[in-house]
Amino acid sequence: MDPLKTAILEKGAVLSGGVLKVDHFLNHQIDTDLMIHIGKEFAARYKECNITRVITIESSGIAPSLMAANELDVPLVFARKKKSLTMTNDVYTSSVYSFTKQETNTITISKSFLNAEDHVLIIDDFLANGKAALGLAHIVEQAGAKVAGFGIVIEKSFQEGRAKLEEAGYRVESLARIQSLQHEKVTFLEETVLQNS
Ligand code: 5GP
Repeated sequence: MDPLKTAILEKGAVLSGGVLKVDHFLNHQIDTDLMIHIGKEFAARYKECNITRVITIESSGIAPSLMAANELDVPLVFARKKKSLTMTNDVYTSSVYSFTKQETNTITISKSFLNAEDHVLIIDDFLANGKAALGLAHIVEQAGAKVAGFGIVIEKSFQEGRAKLEEAGYRVESLARIQSLQHEKVTFLEETVLQNS
């Protein structure tokens, strides 16, 4: 089995409300070998897309994005959730409702780090209802840049995020797709396999 799914099964914990806790390897302590594997996988899936920049949102998107950006040999920019004192007003912003924190944040990226010629790969740790992903896409589009697609480490396929992104015409590549977290058990969505008769 692939190392990400193994880590989810062995080290993930299912919390109430359809939340998966992955603090052992992604959201608090970080498994660097696993992040390198994830970065290579995203880079392989988008290698033909002429990616010029990777964008994510602080803080849990940074580790997998860093490895993907390094592999693609492009800069990584992370959106801030709180405006820093050192940031000028020359920023793109979007409002994002946080699924886990249940609050709305204004996310921000400096105009210096996105331009109209960019082909952007947007990466995040989780896809649930798609709010963070759509907020990031909104920022990329304010710059006149192109969203090449999304790279999601863990997609919760029982929530509506993928459908929302696909409806909006975006490509979504998820490395682990979870069908259910019911009864404290992780069940992966099996990809349809066509078998030769
Ligand atoms: P969305 O915006 O798609 O509703 O939720 C995605 C964001 O919420 C991600 O950036 C992630 O930080 C957080 N998130 C959503 N679901 C989960 C979950 O089950 N576990 C963890 N650890 N974070 C989640």
